[in-house]
Amino acid sequence: MDAEDLRLAVYRTFAETGRAPEAGELAEQLGAELPAVAGGLEELARARHLVLDDRGEIVMAHPFSAVPLGFSVMGDRTLWWGGCAWDSFALPHLLPGQGEVLVATRCPACARPLAWNGPRRPPDGGQVAHFLVPAPRMWDDVVHTCRHQRLFCSTGCVDAWLEATGSARGYVMDLGTLWRLAAHSGRRLAGDG
Ligand SMILES: [Zn+2]
Ligand SMILES: [Zn+2]
Repeated sequence: MDAEDLRLAVYRTFAETGRAPEAGELAEQLGAELPAVAGGLEELARARHLVLDDRGEIVMAHPFSAVPLGFSVMGDRTLWWGGCAWDSFALPHLLPGQGEVLVATRCPACARPLAWNGPRRPPDGGQVAHFLVPAPRMWDDVVHTCRHQRLFCSTGCVDAWLEATGSARGYVMDLGTLWRLAAHSGRRLAGDG
């Protein structure tokens, strides 16, 4: 089982269908036995390409997510869970041929709906991203980390949410900076930059 072939097959299914492939589908696509696929998925998880649940099923393959984390990304024909704020802005760069996509979420503090068309231009607006978990602890529980990388209406809403949840302030980033960094990581994952 070539780990890179397996990784590409996982990304391809996510990109084309919006959902994670099951081990059986991967085995069929790659002409491999199930135990080899399961072993390959574990190897990719150890290298942090994937996150698996305790049954060995794929939860995330950054920036793709099989579980809701507060964002949706809608293309012409396909709908994805968006992962975190960063992942949701990175995703459109991995999805050529989807035309404009819609990235949508809700402010965690006041529940206001927030949405942007992407990804060609930086998104408009004074909203901010808040990254609760500091970078050195990101991988302690990466699903928790991504679930708390959210977009807020303003720094006022970040403050209100921190107070309501009793959380310590993480890192705050404006929308333009988030978009540029996410665009770069998306293009790198797509293999052209
Ligand atoms: Zn708000
Ligand atoms: Zn994330």
